[in-house]
Amino acid sequence: MRYLGSHVGLSSPLYLLGSVRQAELWGETAFMCYTGAPQNSHRVPLERLKIAEADAVSALPRVIHAPYIVNLADPEGGEKLSIGKKTVKNELQRAKAMGGVCLVLHPGASLGADFLPSALCLCRCLEEVAQGENFPPIAIETMAGKGSEIGKTLEEVAFILGNCSLPLKVCLDTCHLHDGGYDLSDPGFLDEVDRVIGLSNVACVHLNDSKNPRGSHKDRHENLGYGAIGFSNLRRIASDPRLDPLPIILETPYWNGAAPYAQEIKMLRDGAFSDWR
Ligand code: FE
Ligand code: FE
Ligand code: ZN
Repeated sequence: MRYLGSHVGLSSPLYLLGSVRQAELWGETAFMCYTGAPQNSHRVPLERLKIAEADAVSALPRVIHAPYIVNLADPEGGEKLSIGKKTVKNELQRAKAMGGVCLVLHPGASLGADFLPSALCLCRCLEEVAQGENFPPIAIETMAGKGSEIGKTLEEVAFILGNCSLPLKVCLDTCHLHDGGYDLSDPGFLDEVDRVIGLSNVACVHLNDSKNPRGSHKDRHENLGYGAIGFSNLRRIASDPRLDPLPIILETPYWNGAAPYAQEIKMLRDGAFSDWR
């Protein structure tokens, strides 16, 4: 847990400078932000993000997350695919300018299509956008399997990596994996990730508890220790020495309007759950 942090906002007027200050106030040693609103692709110009000012005060690793409206996995997507490709290209440029270690991307939803054409559509789109460019790597996030989301099993994510000529990486989301059916109380879970995906292909971890039982395909994050995965299982994964070089990012919900991250980070470092809610 060398690099442990959370999602932090990116907002006017301080933008990235405000994000790094917030992360440091919460005791974080890494953080993640979107390059604007998570739910749309409207973006403030890079010149206004105070990137140099942030660099001057903080060297924390930064994970960048692409907006979640993008869907490059619908082969019938038509114009939506072209818009999505433009958005991802722009996000990759922004992630590079912001010093991001990777750009986390949801693999998307197949809608009416089968997995195979859907995954290949995603792979071709990403190649078009990033081939030959010196962008930070795209990290495909493991998904809960809500609706027709692809990337809901390690095998599906491995297929995407194996069928794209880019050096794609992976973001392991513990809530999504649990909701997708994986048993995170199994001490062999990371061995399974290593066998199917290769731990060297993992770029970051989203450490979240889940509000729902295993296999529910719901994707509702819960505070660490208050959900169906449980603190000790999450802590065992987060402290596995094989994940030590990776940023571990909390995306747990606010409680009574306040961010939980300072408490959750302290609990992870102390190795003990304490009831703070
Ligand atoms: Fe995500
Ligand atoms: Fe996530
Ligand atoms: Zn989620």
